[in-house]
Amino acid sequence: MKAITLISGGLDSILAAKVVKDQGVEVIPLNFKIPFCQRKKNAQPDNTMSSFVKNNLGEELRCMDISKDFMELVLNPKHGFGSNMNPCIDCKITMLKKAKELLGEWNAQFIVTGEVLGQRPMSQHRRALQVIEKDSALEGLLLRPLSAKLFPETVPEKELWVRREELFNFNGRSRRPQINLARKLGISDYPNSAGGCLLTDLQFSNRLRDLIIHRQLNIENVELLKIGRHFRLSASTKLIVGRNEIENKELEYLVKETDYLFIPDQDLAGPACLGRGEFNDQLVELSCQIMSRYCDLNDAKRARIIYYRKDNSVTTPCVAEAFPICEGKLDSLRL
Ligand code: SF4
Repeated sequence: MKAITLISGGLDSILAAKVVKDQGVEVIPLNFKIPFCQRKKNAQPDNTMSSFVKNNLGEELRCMDISKDFMELVLNPKHGFGSNMNPCIDCKITMLKKAKELLGEWNAQFIVTGEVLGQRPMSQHRRALQVIEKDSALEGLLLRPLSAKLFPETVPEKELWVRREELFNFNGRSRRPQINLARKLGISDYPNSAGGCLLTDLQFSNRLRDLIIHRQLNIENVELLKIGRHFRLSASTKLIVGRNEIENKELEYLVKETDYLFIPDQDLAGPACLGRGEFNDQLVELSCQIMSRYCDLNDAKRARIIYYRKDNSVTTPCVAEAFPICEGKLDSLRL
């Protein structure tokens, strides 16, 4: 027998996959990429999850990018949002529907997840888990090994593809049962928390709402939300200020042809800033004032800032001398 096991990168999904694998089921670990995962630095491939899966399941992790489908979800999720912009129930249904489509192609009979009854307020209470199973049209074919004994028997249990008595009845928010099981199964070096994606974060959600309100929701803009300080300068224009050396490099990496890049003159310590949207002279000046606020001016009153557009449509490079913006105005622009 073969099962597609959904891998989130946390401990629970690996435990669930390992439990069924140890019962002799062939597992196909599958991870869905969504636009709201933590950013990987400089687009370097992050192999942490792949090697974690390989080490513990002995299988290669398969990845599928569902970013396009996912963008629609944050606009109007059928089952609503969690505490922030996280549409957890619809997110799970979307992933399970995708996985279901792959059952035939990958010659697998059922799907395994690491969901635990009561572990999360929005998406893992009993009613939510039932809705997820029903709306993904997987009734009977979705096995949750960590809480299976608290639910009716599934097809894999009825057909004896897995032994129900060796599954679990984990219930509630405590992580202790999972930690004990990990120790028993020899799984170490797992991620600490069972935290969700960036949509569960208040500040990220506020920035995302701002994008939606200004009709600027797209994958590239979402990627930018993950780094820097964000300022809305006009309905169409934003400035993002790097907070450290790594973010400065990230911003330079993410700059698009039509973006502005602001950098400190040589001998001046300061951030890189990325400007996206429609700029006029006033907005360029405002951007320089914001950037000046974050430069190390020592005793100088003004910062010397160089800026240019990636597509060279502005005579480049331009140089500006800018006084730092006052804190009150800065706060009024901050996202
Ligand atoms: S926390 Fe994010 S990735 Fe996890 S279920 Fe919710 S929306 Fe989906």
